[in-house]
Amino acid sequence: MTIARKDLALAIDNQDLRLHYQPIVCPRSSRVLGVEALVRWQHPSEGLVAPDHFIGVAEALDLIVPLGNWVLRQACVDARQWPDLRVAVNVSPLQIRQGDFSATVAAILAETGFDAHRLELEITEATALDNDATSHDAIASLRRIGIRFALDDFGTGYSGLMTLRRFPFDKIKIDRAFMDMSDGEGGDATVILDFIIRLGTALGLTVTAEGVEARDQQDRLVEAGCDELQGFLFAMPMSATDLGLFLAGARTIGTA
Ligand code: C2E
Ligand code: CA
Ligand code: CA
Repeated sequence: MTIARKDLALAIDNQDLRLHYQPIVCPRSSRVLGVEALVRWQHPSEGLVAPDHFIGVAEALDLIVPLGNWVLRQACVDARQWPDLRVAVNVSPLQIRQGDFSATVAAILAETGFDAHRLELEITEATALDNDATSHDAIASLRRIGIRFALDDFGTGYSGLMTLRRFPFDKIKIDRAFMDMSDGEGGDATVILDFIIRLGTALGLTVTAEGVEARDQQDRLVEAGCDELQGFLFAMPMSATDLGLFLAGARTIGTA
């Protein structure tokens, strides 16, 4: 699919973007602890388009800032319905490099009345390795108002350990590639997974595993002491309305 700048710009202005939310759960009880907001594009002819098709384009065409701001504002508005949940939002390195990123986030929180302590920003190693002082200052000032930072796709970069030393993260999210490897091939992947979980725990970080699809993966992660799980085994990403129904169902099951 080829994307013209004007179409994506129009989609951002016209409210043709949608947010889906995927639950993040407690490993043992499966209780929902929070959700990750994941953007989609409701395209007039292509249907619902996945973010991998347009986030890179938005970055290349200078549209990631308006797109990212829309995502953050919408997530804060939607999440007022779920006062017990934390909300994770993905942030592009290009957003953080803007001089006014922390002011923009603070303004969106004020405008939507959303509590900074419930917001978590997911960044990739590319942002963390960014030597740009602007990014570091923005992250430091956002942490001061209570926003948490998660290192996304942990284990896929080339210097994961160094990143952890340099940067004040609250959480690591283990990339789903490690779930695939541990699924069947045994041995090494399990050792690596155990190591990452122990490392994160020793550093005082919350450790989340992504892409959990099978019960045996859950069992292994529970045994290894992982703090939070996310994946199709528990729930697919879904609309805010469906999440409301999902949570109502989970509460009924939980209290029955
Ligand atoms: P991510 O941040 O690593 O998000 C997790 C992706 O894994 C999501 O794909 C989710 O649907 C998928 N996933 C969740 N559980 C499972 C599972 O059990 N198995 C498998 N195979 N996949 C699972 P999605 O929604 O297509 O998003 C792809 C990527 O697009 C995200 O990866 C993130 O990097 C980016 N993205 C999504 N929303 C935003 C956004 O608002 N802003 C920015 N900058 N990037 C975004
Ligand atoms: Ca993410
Ligand atoms: Ca990820």
